[in-house]
Amino acid sequence: MIQTFDAIVLGGGAAGLMCAIEAGKRGRRVAVLEHAERLGKKILISGGGRCNFTNIHCRPENFLSSNPHFAKSALARYTPADVVALVEKHRIRYHEKTLGQLFCDGSAREMVAMLEEECRAAKVSIFLNAKIREVGRRDEFVVHTSNDEFHGPATVVATGGLSVPKIGATSFGYDLARQFGLRIREPRPGLVPFVFHQQDRSSYCDLAGVSAEVIACCDGQQFREKMLITHRGLSGPAMLQISSYWREPESISIDVAPGREVTQVFRDSKTPRNPSSLRSELRKILPSRFADRWLELHEPTAWTNAALAGFEKQMHAWAIHPAGTEGFEKAEVTVGGIDTGELSAKTMECRKVPGLYFIGEVVDVTGHLGGFNFQWAWASGAAAGRAL
Ligand SMILES: Cc1cc2nc3c(=O)[nH]c(=O)nc-3n(C[C@H](O)[C@H](O)[C@H](O)COP(=O)(O)OP(=O)(O)OC[C@H]3O[C@@H](n4cnc5c(N)ncnc54)[C@H](O)[C@@H]3O)c2cc1C
Repeated sequence: MIQTFDAIVLGGGAAGLMCAIEAGKRGRRVAVLEHAERLGKKILISGGGRCNFTNIHCRPENFLSSNPHFAKSALARYTPADVVALVEKHRIRYHEKTLGQLFCDGSAREMVAMLEEECRAAKVSIFLNAKIREVGRRDEFVVHTSNDEFHGPATVVATGGLSVPKIGATSFGYDLARQFGLRIREPRPGLVPFVFHQQDRSSYCDLAGVSAEVIACCDGQQFREKMLITHRGLSGPAMLQISSYWREPESISIDVAPGREVTQVFRDSKTPRNPSSLRSELRKILPSRFADRWLELHEPTAWTNAALAGFEKQMHAWAIHPAGTEGFEKAEVTVGGIDTGELSAKTMECRKVPGLYFIGEVVDVTGHLGGFNFQWAWASGAAAGRAL
């Protein structure tokens, strides 16, 4: 069956639905084609089931992109306050957890229900289980699914990145970009735990579950948050954040005692210089199992000022060389994507292919941990929706 719309949105996640709602509100006839059996599956699993739907401190600096200016326009025109207004309109209760991160009090299901209700009000047509077979363009776009053919002057690609394939992530958006001759910045896993080499694994991984506040540094970036030792390597917010900046074979520098001087007491007082005093100093700063292990592995070779200074230095610049990451299976986002040079920063429309838009995670804009990725999905979706 052939159906004609003003805009065909491919992908019914955060970005696609926001785009459809904004366009529908402006009287556009919009179809959303989603290959899963329901909308917003990633929203449902986000934020541990409570969806960290925005961050009130959202700034362009919270995003990675090969063009750091690209996201500014869209982010300025659809702000966290706009998201909060929408959430409040639907009487969804929420709270600030930490660092400006807003979560639903109840469940992420409320966010999906909100978007579905907005779609209904904006008369958006939703097609679930829509397996897209082909997208072509002559005078207008033609999208073939298994059963139907959709025609329209505009197509919006909102099929997300590669993270978590088991809930429906596909390379569809990148494949389509290649078909239209668009440049792609190589996609790689972001906000993802690190995996240790065998030696570090045997040194630390029996401490799985132990966490400490650290500063993780790589590629000129640093994050002061918690680090968590896992069965295979390192995770926790600090490590997830820095993972988005890491590329093999770089090392990561970790300050395991930020702002503290562990050995100062030995310089300034008569505290005996021996392993047991150092252990008790370390235990004041680090969880005791980690403190003990650290000392076992890095015990000073002598008790001179120089040796203690070396020990101190190592605590503030622990260089780790990850074997890799847990990959797209465990990554919260995909770094890289459609090169922003191909798109208008105002509308997300392709410069080379009028009527073709890319929004959300498929674009080379990636947020830090903490609600920024949804904010980009909403903002880029709204930017395209208002231009259709
Ligand atoms: C476990 C987890 C937790 C997260 N928690 C948070 C959080 O709390 N806060 C935050 O800001 N970010 C979070 N994120 C990141 C956030 O979910 C994404 O950045 C965001 O969902 C991207 O929105 P999107 O619409 O671009 O893509 P998606 O939400 O991935 O939506 C893309 C849609 O397209 C569909 N699709 C894919 N291929 C096709 C195809 N070929 N045909 C038709 N449909 C297709 C998919 O099924 C999907 O519904 C989390 C991610 C994960 C994996």
